[in-house]
Amino acid sequence: MTALSIRSLVKRYDNGFEAVKGIDLDVPAGSFYALLGPNGAGKSTTIGMISSLIKPTEGSIKVFDVDTQSHPNDAKRYIGLVPQEINLNMWEKCEDILCYQAGYYGVVRREALKRAEVLLKEMDLWEKRHQPVRTLSGGMKRRMMIARALMHNPKLLILDEPTAGVDIEIRRSMWRFLEGLNQSGTTIILTTHYLEEAEALCNKVGIIDRGTIVEQGDVKALLSRANYETFVLDVDAYSILPEVDGFVLTGVNAESIEVQVPRERGINTLMTALTEANIRVFSMRNKSNRLEEFFLRLVQKGAA
Ligand code: ADP
Repeated sequence: MTALSIRSLVKRYDNGFEAVKGIDLDVPAGSFYALLGPNGAGKSTTIGMISSLIKPTEGSIKVFDVDTQSHPNDAKRYIGLVPQEINLNMWEKCEDILCYQAGYYGVVRREALKRAEVLLKEMDLWEKRHQPVRTLSGGMKRRMMIARALMHNPKLLILDEPTAGVDIEIRRSMWRFLEGLNQSGTTIILTTHYLEEAEALCNKVGIIDRGTIVEQGDVKALLSRANYETFVLDVDAYSILPEVDGFVLTGVNAESIEVQVPRERGINTLMTALTEANIRVFSMRNKSNRLEEFFLRLVQKGAA
């Protein structure tokens, strides 16, 4: 079963700019999918089209086999959307927001109250149920957005940059919640430019750059193709960096250097060469995760 199937999707804005250039994308039901890309890549535009907020210029989108353009209302019932901007009415009470949302999908108030209770408790917002949104912290508002998107029990939850600007503790607790939700059967798609987030949560990934999908597949399979890792070494003051075959050394400042280490290559050769050049290494750390390396390489390749 496919939760989302996109074919030849194009979005040309009124000013003639093509933000999405004929993408094909498949999200299997039950997966946790990261739509990954730099700012301006076309992630929000794609999500807008999936959730019928933006009209595609060309192409088709099916959500659990329902065509979003010929049957938008049926498709929307399958989708819970958490947009990037917090768009809650600040004067409305938390519980009321959730019940209105359910009403919009035809859920009667008694049922809505039960569902709201479950979600408010899960989101650690139960104490706040009679409070207006403006009294909530930033993290609480984000959790309210997720609770609202889940009121009609969507099979597909789409989150646009859910943890942008959220502190690390809240981010981790959101991750745990989303993992649980996915394990209980909800397909999740999230856009992010935090590669760490995609690597920690997602089993599938699509990498989008300038309106085109440049890679798509299993996170594990993509990672096994990531060929380099970058390390930062803290060293003695040095004057000249040695040339070491297969490694790329760059001076960051007088006391640290960056090295690109090919996968399958140990660092012994590198260490020996540094010792021979009288450069002592005090410490060494991995600069970025491997998905990030891979991602940067793809995006740089595209730009070249
Ligand atoms: P992302 O979510 O990956 O940051 P977006 O989908 O928001 O990217 O934007 C993709 C590109 O489309 C950007 O270059 C953006 O400036 C452009 N864009 C977005 N909305 C509009 C619009 N309404 N009119 C014209 N261009 C737009």
